[in-house]
Amino acid sequence: TLHSKTALVTGSTSGIGLAIARGLAQQGANVVINGFGQPDAIEKERAGIEAEFGVRAVYSGADMSKGDEIAAMVAQAETDFGAVDILVNNAGIQYVSAIEEFPVEKWDQIIAINLSSAFHTMRAAIPGMKKKGWGRIINTASAHSLVASPFKAAYVAAKHGIAGLTKTAALELATHKITVNCISPGYVWTPLVEAQIPDTMKARGMTKDQVIEEVLLKAQPTKEFVTVDQVAAIAAFLCSDAASQITGANLTVDGGWTAQ
Ligand code: NAD
Repeated sequence: TLHSKTALVTGSTSGIGLAIARGLAQQGANVVINGFGQPDAIEKERAGIEAEFGVRAVYSGADMSKGDEIAAMVAQAETDFGAVDILVNNAGIQYVSAIEEFPVEKWDQIIAINLSSAFHTMRAAIPGMKKKGWGRIINTASAHSLVASPFKAAYVAAKHGIAGLTKTAALELATHKITVNCISPGYVWTPLVEAQIPDTMKARGMTKDQVIEEVLLKAQPTKEFVTVDQVAAIAAFLCSDAASQITGANLTVDGGWTAQ
């Protein structure tokens, strides 16, 4: 179990990050949750984690596009809990456009949130992990860390970048009992994905099933979504002793997408 460990999960007020934070709390870890949203909804999730799993949970509203706020978040977590033992870099956003029309500020924002934030969190958290002689760093990458799709230039570049950052950090930390891995999901059923369906039905004149099979799950051979709990289970496994020799890996959970 992860009793007496502390996990910081970026982008954990929703979707995959929330499931990972809850999964690690279920194993006994104290958690720092982070992300945007309605304050009362976030407080409900935070308090719910404490009540359900008997751990401590604190919230940081740090903006993952800002290096100084990220450093302060890690420092605060170390003050509150004594250490950040498990770091999960999960915050991410998407923007879809042809390169020649891609807004420059969207490019900068996606590179900052989806890639540079992981550099800033690692830079701040690694000294504490080295001191304790134990650590786990898990990056939520994507099938788009391995293959591309058109019109997602910033996202694909950032996700390929996080895969490279993962390998580099794994090599640097290999003798410190700190593992660094990324998890690469295909299409995951999150509120974000669900919310796109009605608009796509209208825009393409399709039924819900058609949108799911012919648009969303076109690249996913199983024709099923990954669930957030399936991603969270991999994160929890990577924190276990059984996974202590898995480092620098890119674990796919994509229904066969990247096998094609
Ligand atoms: P989501 O929108 O449900 O969650 C994103 C989280 O990041 C939220 O908590 C949001 O508040 C937070 N966030 C966004 N911008 C932030 C910022 N500037 N600072 C701090 N927090 C910020 O999305 P999700 O689907 O759960 O995605 C989580 C991760 O999984 C992302 O890195 C995404 O690229 C990756 N991913 C998702 C899918 C999918 O199909 N849903 C597939 C592969 C990879």
